[in-house]
Amino acid sequence: MGRVFVNRTLNLKRIRYLGFDMDHTLVRYNSENFEKLAHRVMIEKLVRDKGYPESLLKLPFFYDRAIRGLIIDKAKGNTLKLSRHSAIRVSYHGLKPIDYREQGRLYKSVYIDLRDSNFVSIDTAFSIAHAALFMQLVDLRDAQADNTTLPDYAHIAEDLNFVLDRAHRDGSLKDEVRKNLDKYIIKDEALVAGLERFKKHGKKLFIATNSDYSYSKLLLDYTINPFVKEHKSWEDLFEITITLSAKPRFFIDNQRFLKIDPKTGLMSNMDQKLGPGIYQGGSANVFTSDLDVAPDEILYIGDHIYGDVLRLKKDLAWRTALVVEELEEEISKEREAAPLLEKVNHLMDQKFPLEIKIDKLISEQIETGTKTHEDEIHKMLGEISEIDKAVSPLLKQQQQLFNPYWGEVMRTGIEESYFAYQVDRFACVYMAKLSDLLATSPRTYFRSWRRPLAHDLEIAKHQPKADLKS
Ligand SMILES: [Mg+2]
Repeated sequence: MGRVFVNRTLNLKRIRYLGFDMDHTLVRYNSENFEKLAHRVMIEKLVRDKGYPESLLKLPFFYDRAIRGLIIDKAKGNTLKLSRHSAIRVSYHGLKPIDYREQGRLYKSVYIDLRDSNFVSIDTAFSIAHAALFMQLVDLRDAQADNTTLPDYAHIAEDLNFVLDRAHRDGSLKDEVRKNLDKYIIKDEALVAGLERFKKHGKKLFIATNSDYSYSKLLLDYTINPFVKEHKSWEDLFEITITLSAKPRFFIDNQRFLKIDPKTGLMSNMDQKLGPGIYQGGSANVFTSDLDVAPDEILYIGDHIYGDVLRLKKDLAWRTALVVEELEEEISKEREAAPLLEKVNHLMDQKFPLEIKIDKLISEQIETGTKTHEDEIHKMLGEISEIDKAVSPLLKQQQQLFNPYWGEVMRTGIEESYFAYQVDRFACVYMAKLSDLLATSPRTYFRSWRRPLAHDLEIAKHQPKADLKS
């Protein structure tokens, strides 16, 4: 069974309403197939609407070319993976890795300012296809002799945004999903059982999705209805369904709710308070005031940092949970990597005292104006270089377990990735899939850990072990 990871204490007993994003949260997608489709649809639109060469239609898609949480540098045509402090830790120009020296030349500092409009955080519904295609197009532009067929990097980035937006609006992606539901959509019986169990505990369930009513109905009919046991259908299971909610605007603005007639799909204006039913548009403000629910009695679960949880945490006090699909594989790989890291740590434990000793001897030489320790220093430098030689293949082996181009999603070296930092900031709890959360008791009190600060490690070293028996 999967697990729920806690950033901030969350008492489910206090939660009255559980809200769900639909795509990739309530409804699971086969991400690799879906990203491949998104890649193809984007290319088709670039060719048709933006005059890109037809040869692009043959461009293959490699799912592992990108990971979630990358940043595009529009001006330089680079794609970056950042640490939690916005330091560049991995970078590519097009499809080519940028080495450390070149990176230093390009960026002066390893730290970048994300407020600079040249940096675009890729946080779309298909971030992998988006980043991978940008990398491919930059590469192709560099390869062309006269640089005329493809526009400059910034234009490529803007054109990608344009076709992405189009693909969302005109339904070309959704039409394809509609035709091949079993290729793109994963049914999850445990998820439906979990929803019904939460309802037994008196929780009210609602959906707030940016998808339209007809697409939502199609997916919910397909994934929920076959498994409901105590309800007639999803319409009966969810108290309120809000379609075309325009998140994150839903959380900030005051758009009007329109009521949808489930039989005809027709919409009408609302002149009464929000009640059970199916809607379009609306706002979080009206939702909480009409239903007379306190913001911290609502838990909203989504898969998208910007669309689903960022504004909720910044502007409203709703509790948040984030689905991080990559976690399942990442955790199992971390387990595989643990013995390798243990070996690395063991070697580093031998290296650090040598470094300290060398510094001490060199200081002594500087301060006394002598050269008496040269031989000893030389010998220890040799030992350090032997240790480095042993560490380097171990680290390589460890990295090869993860994405071959970018490494882990949640980490970069020993630091947290920028993506992990955002998960930490904006999600109260997180998990690999919604059914992991729904498998817990609706009475769970999720407790956060006492998180170690840098100086805690020092305290821990000198702390006598507590005798728990007495
Ligand atoms: Mg979603």
